[in-house]
Amino acid sequence: MKNYFPTVFILLTLIVTACGKQEVNTNYKGNPEPLLPNAYIKLPLGTVIPAGWLKSQLEAQAAGLTGNLDDFWPDLVNSSWRGGDGEAWERGPYFLDGLVPLAYLLKDDHLIGKVKTWIEPILTSSRDTGWYGPAKNTDRWPLAVANKVLMQYYEATGDKRALDVITKYFRYLHNSKPDWPDKEWRGVRAMENAVTGYWLYRQTGESWILETIKSIEQNSSDWTTYYEKFPWDSASSADKKIPLNWGPDGLTAHVVNNAMAIKYPGLWYQQSKNDRFKKAVFSGIKKYDLNHGQAGGRFSGDEHLAGKSPSRGTELCSVVEYMFSLEELYEIFGDNTLADRLERLAYNSLPGTTTPDFWAHQYDQQANQVISSAAKRDWSTNGDYSNIYGLMPNFACCLANMHQGWPKFAVSMWMATNDNGLALVSYGPSVVKAKVGNAKEVTITEDTNYPFNGTVKLTINTEKAVRFPIDLRIPGWADSVTIKFKNKLVKVKNISVYKIRERWKNGDQIFIELPMQLRIEKRYNNSLAILRGPVYYSLRIDKEYKSVRINYDNFSYKGSVDWEIYPNSAWNYGLLIDRRNISRGMKVTENPVSKYPFSDRGDLIWSADSNKYVLSVQDAPVTIKARGMKIPEWTIKNNSADVPPLSPVKPEGDPEIITLVPYGCARLRITEFPVMDIILMEDMMRPTK
Ligand SMILES: [Zn+2]
Repeated sequence: MKNYFPTVFILLTLIVTACGKQEVNTNYKGNPEPLLPNAYIKLPLGTVIPAGWLKSQLEAQAAGLTGNLDDFWPDLVNSSWRGGDGEAWERGPYFLDGLVPLAYLLKDDHLIGKVKTWIEPILTSSRDTGWYGPAKNTDRWPLAVANKVLMQYYEATGDKRALDVITKYFRYLHNSKPDWPDKEWRGVRAMENAVTGYWLYRQTGESWILETIKSIEQNSSDWTTYYEKFPWDSASSADKKIPLNWGPDGLTAHVVNNAMAIKYPGLWYQQSKNDRFKKAVFSGIKKYDLNHGQAGGRFSGDEHLAGKSPSRGTELCSVVEYMFSLEELYEIFGDNTLADRLERLAYNSLPGTTTPDFWAHQYDQQANQVISSAAKRDWSTNGDYSNIYGLMPNFACCLANMHQGWPKFAVSMWMATNDNGLALVSYGPSVVKAKVGNAKEVTITEDTNYPFNGTVKLTINTEKAVRFPIDLRIPGWADSVTIKFKNKLVKVKNISVYKIRERWKNGDQIFIELPMQLRIEKRYNNSLAILRGPVYYSLRIDKEYKSVRINYDNFSYKGSVDWEIYPNSAWNYGLLIDRRNISRGMKVTENPVSKYPFSDRGDLIWSADSNKYVLSVQDAPVTIKARGMKIPEWTIKNNSADVPPLSPVKPEGDPEIITLVPYGCARLRITEFPVMDIILMEDMMRPTK
């Protein structure tokens, strides 16, 4: 189809750079000198408010494990971080890293009350030396997480005591000798402290903070060289050289460490101003995709880096940590590919690995996941319970750490621009209430069912008319986006940001139409994945939940349960597809989004009202009818779907209508489909007379 309206190319960032003049946001604290200015400025917790289906998702999380876990899981009930005598390491801070933003995003008094029971003992634990937390913990690692908790708490409440605790702790780090060994988590993950360090510098501008970060960067694991050399590539994987241990080399092949570390060179770029560190980030991401890439934007690791086969697992911790890394990196670089990937993780990999009611989660998810059960699978280092949906399958790190995913994503959906405006970073239903222009407060409401639908409506509310810019991110996959505002209509493509500079009055609206044509992505063994917007579509497999009570007997509490999920219909389908016209033979239906946005018929959902599990009969928000054909020789191997047979596959048998649903709604799924030989397929798809 032809564009009837002029295509607009705006390269404003380049123009600003070319003029040599850097604008500074006067409402929100960006990087003071000598740091490089960042592309955007993250807004404080509480500025972005979830709406629509996203609010439902966060409410499900609040009614599920996040809102209940510290009432029954002994590691949190008796946590030393909240004044008990139990677990004193990472689990308390991990949990709070999600509970704190969730409580303040939902303005949920019950959750805010919980936050206080945790935060008060932490605030009063700060000692003269600057160290804080449980008396029996002497390891710096959990404090790196606790720093982020206090940072968010301070943003939401303005409680100066939190700022004091962080400042004193950074003083402690500044005054004590570096202690960041490569064989310990605190050393491998040392630069996690830089997230809070740079934030603290933005608050106070005290130069010793930068000295502290420099010392951490120069005395901890060298991830920059790692990304430049990338030793754990496909060749080393084929030679079985990826170190499956927990020593210094094994820790560099550990999926969660990788997901965290990808932001470390980027963080240091702000201070070093050296392009080497920027390049390391983007080259690292590319190498993940090339060597370990999975559908859904992630890379595999079960729990060491595991290659591209869609039967290999990805640990949940690495999904939420990769998301957080991308949120930090987008703020620094403003690069579209980072936000594209963030949306892919949030709208696929994250919901796909929990139950819709957020009462159970997996340790390892698979792109082609046809049985969720306790059984031996081809994992590098994980155990037999890793792909069940349960309370703490395999190991309990994810149970503590998963809570940050959705809330931090919501917080980062909007950011401030350096020219006193706002940037729409990730699309989704939300409200941003922020200062723009000359400290005028405005509200922008984003009405949309994105990513299930491509229509976005922004409504601006302001007391008086105010001039400020709005940056709209143009997703990399969108070949043409239509934007309407103030009697103007533009079509944009091939740009990453469309900047609107207008004087906005109360009630002004912007209409954005993101194209939702089906797309394909080439994957393992020439298989294909189907996308629509940022969402991957997977084969719907009829399923049966079976409670297996692995942890259930010990921790029976409301909806807490361990599920195995078994297939009740065939999964070994190849896809009949016309590569020149993807939508041919496909029918997309948008359905109402339920209270549990990432559910599909056949899911069991905990009902707090009736105190039991209820079978969901509602369809996923989008269903696609497509044509598939069974491939009899594609079978189970080691309790997973075997790798997809090399495509194109010769069609044998009859085409059938199959249904695809969003990856995040499919607890059992095929996402990387073998495809049928195109020429033979053409014959079969020709309508019979
Ligand atoms: Zn984990």
